[in-house]
Amino acid sequence: MTDCVFCKIVDGELPSRDVYEDRSVLAFLDANPLAPGHTLVIPKEHAAKLEDVVEAPAVWDVTRKLAPEVAEAVDAPAYNVGVNNGSAAGQEVPHVHMHIVPRFPDDGGNPIHAVQPNPPELSDDDLDGIAEKIRRTRDEAAADD
Ligand code: 5GP
Ligand code: ZN
Repeated sequence: MTDCVFCKIVDGELPSRDVYEDRSVLAFLDANPLAPGHTLVIPKEHAAKLEDVVEAPAVWDVTRKLAPEVAEAVDAPAYNVGVNNGSAAGQEVPHVHMHIVPRFPDDGGNPIHAVQPNPPELSDDDLDGIAEKIRRTRDEAAADD
């Protein structure tokens, strides 16, 4: 996509500090790192969201192998992996990317649960209903395939 910043990185029109590349996946350092080694893993194809990625298994496979290597390189004993999928979830660049964020003891950060500081109170009935709705949605999607 012509005005996509990550497509421009893939095409070499914008600079990036690459740490991994293959036929379908590129990984490079985040320009505004939350920690040393903060890395973004992207599909080379333009895809706005996770559900749009044709090469999704390749992106996941690179992420799970690269993440511990990133952490080791910066002496981090742990890391978070996450995706802001959609603008309401905080996605700013509309080309899907997995964040690998190295974590250190007492670094002042939070677990992934911090994405929602005001969780709703859901009863057992609420949860049963939600689970049923998801299963139904899945069945409908499978029927459409
Ligand atoms: P999002 O909020 O979409 O999940 O995160 C976008 C990430 O992309 C941010 O962490 C931001 O620092 C990073 N980013 C935005 N533009 C560029 C860029 O041109 N180069 C690099 N390396 N990272 C970028
Ligand atoms: Zn793109």
